[in-house]
Order: sequence, then structure tokens, then C-alpha cells
Amino acid sequence: VPCDRTPRAEAVVDLAAVRHNVGVLRAAAPDSELMAVVKADGYGHGAVAVGRAALAAGATWLGVCTLEEALALRAGGIDARVLAWLHSPADDFAPAVAAGIDLGVNSVAHLSAVLAAARATGRTARVHLKIDTGLSRGGAPPADWPDLVDAAAKAAAEGTAQIVGLFSHLSHGDVPGHPTLDRQAARLAAAWQLARERGLRPIRHLANSGGTLMRRPDLALDMVRTGIAVYGLDPYDRPVTQSPLRPVMRLQARVLLVKRVPAGEGVAYGHDWVAPTDTTLALVPLGYADGVPRRLNRRGRMTVLLHGERRPVVGRISMDQIVVDCGDLPVAEGDLAVLFGSGADGEPTAQEWADELDTIHYEVVTGVRGARVTRVV
Ligand code: PLP
Repeated sequence: VPCDRTPRAEAVVDLAAVRHNVGVLRAAAPDSELMAVVKADGYGHGAVAVGRAALAAGATWLGVCTLEEALALRAGGIDARVLAWLHSPADDFAPAVAAGIDLGVNSVAHLSAVLAAARATGRTARVHLKIDTGLSRGGAPPADWPDLVDAAAKAAAEGTAQIVGLFSHLSHGDVPGHPTLDRQAARLAAAWQLARERGLRPIRHLANSGGTLMRRPDLALDMVRTGIAVYGLDPYDRPVTQSPLRPVMRLQARVLLVKRVPAGEGVAYGHDWVAPTDTTLALVPLGYADGVPRRLNRRGRMTVLLHGERRPVVGRISMDQIVVDCGDLPVAEGDLAVLFGSGADGEPTAQEWADELDTIHYEVVTGVRGARVTRVV
């Protein structure tokens, strides 16, 4: 329900940083087309806004997971090429085919379902054959390649499908020099050879962000599919000062309440933290229901940037709020607290959160809850 008030918490999305990051990726793979991956609502940043910015900066494709995500881009007015790659033969492909969405298929049955939608809509389906070259997740395993390629060639000859692409996904895109990279590239080349022998001429795509930033043409091929780097998060976990990328999201909220407490006062559920001296506490309205995991402060190491200083979050993280120990800083209600951002001027980063949480920055930014945190673009 729209409500006219100042937002309680904001995820500020820096589209200039998106454009910068797309420029970095294009320079790393200058001979390949660039797909910006905007699944999961643009990794939590907003798919339509990020997609538009990436296209303006030279991306020529957008990539998503589900059919719904693809159609949401069309509904948002984006008419660029969009590839959706995670769906099942049981899905209704007619709306996606009618909307000119490119579809990744794993199997002959999957292709048949897409072809049925093409016949029903009177459109030629745009298909990318998804090949498993070693991730052992999605894609057709090598034993199924001949049948899949045969079925694809037949559909192309009939005019029910255009076989636009042949693709796979890396298992070690974040590990330069890993031997699986060569093996996956060689397997994709073998599948492509098979497709060419059947008269198909699909574009090849394999590399994610990490694979792209390795600057290897044998991985970049005809197109790269880059997600995390578009959002400015470094695929090799380099600190922001050593990465060519600029983080796009800043998670922030305004101080809602300030109070003085005397030494000895326990703070938040369970009183895990007791004020060692008289101090000023600031209440910041962001909690685990917003995407600030409770585990983030289990060792009492979470900090926020407030008044130009990193101040500690004290006590347990609640569902909706955290308490910051400000010492004798002159904090006031309405002051801005930055939970993570670009890393400039002492801001914490999503990478720091990931390290503390034993996870990856992908999970940090996709964990920010769009229903609670106002996105400011
Ligand atoms: N391609 C596929 C098939 C993916 O699933 C993903 C994301 O996981 C990407 C590309 C983008 O990967 P990254 O965010 O590491 O660039």
C-alpha cells in the first residue's frame, strides 16, 4: 500500500556504477557480445533499471532464470534480446515465444515443449541448446548431445525454431587457471562441432563474470554472460581498492531514536552486550527481515558507518532493527547509517558481510528484501 512517508530503509542503486562496470567487462571481452544477467530482480538491485543501464552502456543481451523474469522485462518496456534458462518441459512457453524471448533448453523433451508453443503461436522459437560441460547441474550431458542436436537441426529445417545459441556454465569461473576451464572450453567446442556438422550455426557462450575478467578469448567466445561484476562485486573477492569494479548497491537507513544509557545497562534481547561506560545508543531500523542476517553480529563484529566513523552494532540483531553504540559521538535522529556500500570513505562492503557470514556477496545483495527496503535508483 503506497504510503507517503520517508522510507525506513533504502537500497540505493548507482546506475553510473553499472555503466562503469559494463565498460570494464566490455574491455575484458572486446570481441564478444555482452549479456547482463538480471535474474533474481537484478541480483536484488532491480532488473529493469539495471537492464536499461547495462544496455545503454553496451550490453546487447539480458539474461534471466525464469520465464516470469523474462516477461517482466518485456512488461517493463525492454525489447532487447532476453534469454531465460531455467524452466521445465511442463511450463507454458507460448507467452515467452510470443514475446520473442530466447529459451535455453536442456533436453529433447524440453525442446519439444518449446516447439509446441511455437506451433501454437505461429512464431519461430528462439532456442539456445544448454550443454553440460562439467558443472553437472543444468544442461544436456554428453551422451545426449547427438539426439539433442539432431532434434534441433530438424526443428530448424522445419522453421519451428531458430537455433540461436549453444551454451554452458563454468564450475570454476572464479578461479583463474583452474584446469576445469580448459576442459569445459574443449567440451563446448566439441558440442559446437557436432552442431555445425548438422548444419547449425549457433553462437557459443560460456563465461560468467569471473571467466570474462580472465581475458581469455577461448572462454569469452561469441558472448559472455556477466552478472555479479555488473553489480560491482568482484568475482575473485578482491578488496574494492584492488578491483576495477564499483559496487552498485548501498544499504542505508536513518537513525530513528537516540538515547543515553548508563554503564552496566544491557542492550537488546538477552543482554549479550552490556554498556561498559555511559554511552549513546542509536536505533537503526534494519533487521533480519530486511536482509541483515542475525548471524552477522554473532561475534559482535558488525559495524556501520555513522558520522564518518565505523561504529559497532551492539547486542543481537532484531527482526526490524539494530542498536549502534555511538560512544560520545554527537549523533542525532535522522542521521544516515550506512550498512554496506561502495567501500569509499570507510563504508563497509557486501564483501565484508560475506566474509563474516562465511558466504558469497551474491547472497548478501540478493538477500536484501525488496518488499521492506525502498529501492532508490
Ligand atoms: N550464466 C548462468 C547460467 C548463470 O546461472 C549465472 C549466474 O549464476 C551467470 C551466467 C552469471 O554469473 P556471474 O554472476 O558469476 O557473472
